[in-house]
Amino acid sequence: MRIANLSGRLALIVDGRAVDVAKASDGRFSADPQAVYEHWDEFRSWAAAADLPAGASFDPAELGSPAPGPRQTLAIGLNYRDHASESGFAAPEGLPPVFTKFVTSISGPVTQVKLPADGSTDWEVELVAVIGRRAEGVAEADAWEHVAGLAAGQDISERVAQLAGPAPQFSIGKSYPGFAPIGPWLVTPDEFDDPDDLELRCAVNGEEVQKGRTRDLIFSVPALIAALSAVLPLLPGDVIFTGTPAGVGLGRNPQRFLAAGDELVSTVEGIGELRQTFIA
Ligand code: ZN
Repeated sequence: MRIANLSGRLALIVDGRAVDVAKASDGRFSADPQAVYEHWDEFRSWAAAADLPAGASFDPAELGSPAPGPRQTLAIGLNYRDHASESGFAAPEGLPPVFTKFVTSISGPVTQVKLPADGSTDWEVELVAVIGRRAEGVAEADAWEHVAGLAAGQDISERVAQLAGPAPQFSIGKSYPGFAPIGPWLVTPDEFDDPDDLELRCAVNGEEVQKGRTRDLIFSVPALIAALSAVLPLLPGDVIFTGTPAGVGLGRNPQRFLAAGDELVSTVEGIGELRQTFIA
């Protein structure tokens, strides 16, 4: 099953067309895309059995984030060995660094993003998981039961702000408006042959800069849910950015950052793509 946020309303995506959930369910489920995660099991049962009307075609630019207003966004740093290495760090042995992307940075999949002045703005394609069932002290073996679905994400990062000061400011450098595109929709885990092995790719102006697979995550999605939920409850609709593979601009020689007019396309296998253009 695929769900989307089409112009601020929850939609099911069926054969590439959008079915409005509030209308198709006669108001049983809210049009608010973020509200569905509070009733995720009930929604899944309804969607599996519902006799849905024909969907409508849409423009991907009309899509918002399938989780536009999570109470918590947890983002993971240095979760691929090759990216930890290019960043000058040893691969973490315990839980990798955790930071947040503040909720106002979240956007839909096709956007224009304003580059911070005097900054060095970088790309990080990531798999995003959205929580569908409260997770508190969850064992790794049970963790997928708590995931509503997966989406593509971009952890856009302004490196000057991120790395200035006596200690890194990950949450600040990664939370400018539009720095957390998510989408193009949410795909439930059952849709994948193996939800723990998906290819991630990222290209700048058509040139591939990142290519990795989620099987190389140091902490997989289930391992992250186990480790994070041992500390704090993960709530329905919460978002986890799982980390990026190698190939970011900061790790290149010479370093490379985004410029006005650049187009960034980020893809996750079995899900779809994000498309960001940058302006000064
Ligand atoms: Zn990241």
